[in-house]
Amino acid sequence: MAALPLPALHASHGGSWMRDGAGRTRPVSKGEAVMSAADTPLLILNAPLIATRLGYPDLSGLDLLELYAFMHPARFVVPTPKGLAHALGLEEPKDDADVPRLLQEAAGALLDICESPHWPEREGAWTALQSLTRMRWPWATLLNPRVARPERAERWLFTRLPEWEESPELPQPRQVTLERGEVLQRLAELTGSDAEQRPTQQAYAAEAAAAFAPRQSSGRPHVLLAQAGTGIGKTLGYLAPASLWSGLSGGTTWVSTYTKALQRQLRKESRRAWPDRRADGSRPVVVRKGRENYLCLLNLEDALQGGFAGRAAILAQLVARWAAYTQDGDMIGGDLPGWLGTLFRQRGITALTDRRGECVYAGCPHYRKCFIERAARASAGADLVIGNHALVMINAARGRDHAARPTRIVFDEGHHVFDAADSTFAAALTGSEAIELRRWVIGPEKASRGRRRGLSARLADVASYDEAGAKAIEAARAAAEALPGDGWMQRLTEGEPSGPIEELLAAVRATVYARDESGGQEAGYGLETEAAGLEGAFAEVTEAAREALGELRQPLVRLGLRLEALLEDGPDWLDGQGRARIEGARQSLSWRVDLLLAWESMLGRLNGPADPEFVDWLALDRSEAREYDVGIHRHWLDPMKPFASVVLEPAHGVVMTSATLRDGESWDKAIARSGAAHIEVAPRLSEHLSPFDYAAQAEVLIVNDIPRGDIPALAGAYARLIESAGGGVLGLFTAIRRLRAVYGRIADRLARAGLPLYAQHVDPIDTGTLVDIFRDDPAASLLGTDALRDGVDVPGESLRLVIMEQVPWPRPTILHRARRLAGGGSSYDDSLIRAKLAQAFGRLIRSRGDRGHFVVLSSAFPSRLLSAFPAGTPVLRISLEEALQRVSWNGSGENSSAGSSSGGSEKPDEAAGTAEAPPSQPPI
Ligand code: SF4
Repeated sequence: MAALPLPALHASHGGSWMRDGAGRTRPVSKGEAVMSAADTPLLILNAPLIATRLGYPDLSGLDLLELYAFMHPARFVVPTPKGLAHALGLEEPKDDADVPRLLQEAAGALLDICESPHWPEREGAWTALQSLTRMRWPWATLLNPRVARPERAERWLFTRLPEWEESPELPQPRQVTLERGEVLQRLAELTGSDAEQRPTQQAYAAEAAAAFAPRQSSGRPHVLLAQAGTGIGKTLGYLAPASLWSGLSGGTTWVSTYTKALQRQLRKESRRAWPDRRADGSRPVVVRKGRENYLCLLNLEDALQGGFAGRAAILAQLVARWAAYTQDGDMIGGDLPGWLGTLFRQRGITALTDRRGECVYAGCPHYRKCFIERAARASAGADLVIGNHALVMINAARGRDHAARPTRIVFDEGHHVFDAADSTFAAALTGSEAIELRRWVIGPEKASRGRRRGLSARLADVASYDEAGAKAIEAARAAAEALPGDGWMQRLTEGEPSGPIEELLAAVRATVYARDESGGQEAGYGLETEAAGLEGAFAEVTEAAREALGELRQPLVRLGLRLEALLEDGPDWLDGQGRARIEGARQSLSWRVDLLLAWESMLGRLNGPADPEFVDWLALDRSEAREYDVGIHRHWLDPMKPFASVVLEPAHGVVMTSATLRDGESWDKAIARSGAAHIEVAPRLSEHLSPFDYAAQAEVLIVNDIPRGDIPALAGAYARLIESAGGGVLGLFTAIRRLRAVYGRIADRLARAGLPLYAQHVDPIDTGTLVDIFRDDPAASLLGTDALRDGVDVPGESLRLVIMEQVPWPRPTILHRARRLAGGGSSYDDSLIRAKLAQAFGRLIRSRGDRGHFVVLSSAFPSRLLSAFPAGTPVLRISLEEALQRVSWNGSGENSSAGSSSGGSEKPDEAAGTAEAPPSQPPI
C-alpha cells in the first residue's frame, strides 16, 4: 500500500499541520491553511469539523469520510483519525502533527481497495461513479482510473433490492402460564451455563414472567413496575420470559426503549435468544422505528433524477450506494453513518425520508421493496419487536393493523414513559404544523421542487371514478387555502397576516410579546404565556380560525367515507394493490381529521372556562432571537390518562422497568407515572438491587467554592478537572449558552495538553457520533445537555468523571408550573431533580470494573437531593482544590481516590432529609 502523495491538512484546537506530497509535515497558521485549501484540494478528514476549527466555513477538499462512504457504505467507522486508522488497519497517529501522514496513507489504502478482487461493496460502484463524475465530485478523478468497468451492466438499485412478501394473518397467541423453573432454565441458557449464578437476575426474571400470565379481566392488564439496579442484567432478565412466552404462545413481545444506545444493546443481546433468521428465512427479531427514520425509495429516485442539485446530489448518490447494502434502510441511528448528514447538510437526509405522510403506498413503483413496508410486515410476524416509547404509543393509538398492535410490552428505560406520553398525546396548532397540512392537501405551489403531490393528484383515479369523492377533494383543496402558506412567518412579523389561521397566529404572537415575563425577550429565547384572559379581538380571530378548520375537516370526513365505500364495494379495476393504496389514504385522512378535531376543540375552549385536565399556552419559538414558529399548545396535565386508555387498557401484560423508576425509597411517583390508577389496576412492585459496590467504586464530590453564574470560574473548574482526570469526562449542562461559553474558553488549552474536547451544540457532529468518538478515545471529553444525560453507555475507562455544572433545576415553564401545583410544589421539583441526578450518575458505573467520580459544581446543593445516589455512595462536600486531587488520574487505569475511602463522607442514605450542608471534608 502506498500513501497518496497529495497534500494533507489537519487542524485541531491545538494548531494546524500540513504534509506535502513528498512527506514533509510542518505546522501552519490558520491563514496559511485556509489559503492552501482554497488553492488546491487537500486531503482532509471531516471537512465541516476542520472548517470550524479554522473558522472558515467554506472549506472543501478531498474528504476521507466521503471516500469511505463510497467505498464501504453501511460500514461503521468512528470519524476521527484514530477511528479511520483502526477501520483500515493502519498505524494510529501519535499526535495531531502525525495526522496528515495518516490521511495520505488512508487515502492510498482506500483507493487500493478499488483494485482488489475482494472489495465486497464493488457492485454498483462503477455506475455511481459515472454519475458522481458528472457532478464533479472531487474524488471522482482519482477513482475513475481505479474502478474497473464491470463486464456486465450493473443492475439498477431499484431492481437489485429484494421484495418483501405478504404473510398470512397470524392466529391470536395461545394462553400460557410460565413456570418459574422453566423461566430460570431459559435464563440459564441465555446467560451461558458457565455464567455465574445471579440470584438478583433470577428473581427479576421470575417477576417479569408474571406479566405474561393470562389476563383475568378485560381492560385490566398485568402491570409490573420493576426497579432494576444497574448491572443486574435486566435485559436478559426480561428476554428470558419473553422468548419463552413467544415460543409457547406464538405471540409477539414488544420491548420499548427511549435511547438508541439501548436499542443497539437489545439487538445484540436478543441474538442469544433467537437466531438471526428462522428456517423459513423470516426474522424473529425486528427493530421498528417511526416511518420518518427510513429511507423512502421514491424520494431517493426523485433526488437521483434531478430533484437534488449541487452537493445534495452527491449525497443522494452516496445514500443510493448505502441503500444497496443497508440491513434495514434506517437512516437515523441505523447503519447509515450519522456523520454523513453533517458532511453535506442534515436537511438532505430528512428530505429522503417520508416525514410528511406523502406515501402513496401501493401506488408507489417501489412499494414491494419499500423499507418501511418491509419493517411493518416483519414486525407482524416477529417474536420480538424492539421499538421506542413514542412508536409503541402511536402504534397502539392508530396502528394500521389491529391484530399487530402491541399487547405484551416491556418499557425499558421506563422512567421516560411519562415524557414520551406527554409529547405523543399533546396538540399544537402552530404555523409550521398548519403549513404542513396545507401542503398535504394542496400539494406543490409555485416553484417548489420534488415529487410532493396534493390530495387530488394522489387520488386522481378515485376522483375520476367517484363524483362525490371528487367534490370532497375539491372542497378540501379550497378550504385548505385558509391555512398558512409560504412566507407566513415573514407576513406575521410585517403585520400582514393572510387568512384566518395567520390572523390567529398574529394575535398569538402579539399576545405573547405583550405578556411574557420570563426574561427571555432580551436573551433571544422562546417566549410563552398562558392561554387565559383572551377576550375581545382575540376571541373573534379564534372563532374565525375554528370555523375555517371545521370547513376543512368536513370534506375530509366525506372523502374518508367515500374511500370506505370504495373499499367495501369496489369497482372491478380496484385490485389488491389499489385497495392497499386506498386503505393507506384512508388511514392518513383519518389521522388528519383527528388532528383538525384536536385543534378545533383546543380553540373552542380558549374562549371558555379552562379545562382542568389540560394545560394550554401560547408560544413563540425563537433561536438566537430569530423567530421560527408560533402557535397554541395543549398538553394533558397527566398524560398517563390517555396513555392508560390507549396503551394499558388493551394490553394483557406491561412491564415498566428502569434503574431510576423510584424516587429514593418511595414508590408513589413511579405508581402515579405508570398510569395504572386510571384503569384501576394496582401494579405489582419489585425491586432488585445493583450488585455494584458503590462505596468502593464511586464518589460524589460536591464542589462548594464555584460561585453560581461566574462563567470564568466555571470554565476554569471544568478545564482543571479535565486536566486532573486526564480526559474521560462527561460534562453535563442545563443551558446551551453556558455550555458554549465554557467550551469556547477551554477547548484550545485542553487540545494543547493532548486532551481533545467535543461538544454537542458546538461541533458539527451528530450526538450519536459524538458518543462514538468519546467512547473510542480515553483522553477525549464530551460536553452536552439533556440528551447525553441518559443516552450514553460507556463502560470502562473512557468515562471516569461526570461533571454537572449545577443542580439541574427544572425549567420554570407554564406546563411545569401547572404540574408542580398539582404535584405537591417543591417536593414535585425535588423528585424531578433527583431523577435527573440519578440518571446522570448512572452513566458513571456501568460494570463491576468501573470506577469514577461524580462532581456537582454547586455551592448550595440541598442534602435532601442526596437520596438520588445509590445507597452507600460516599458524598463529600469539598473545595475545587480538594476535588482536583481526588479525581486525578494516574495513567495506570486507577483513579487516585475513588473507592479509596468512605471515611468522613456524607452517605446519601444517611444524609437524605437533612437540611444543612455538612462541613467540607479534607482530601484523603
Ligand atoms: S411506498 Fe411510500 S415510503 Fe415506501 S418508497 Fe414508496 S412512497 Fe416511499
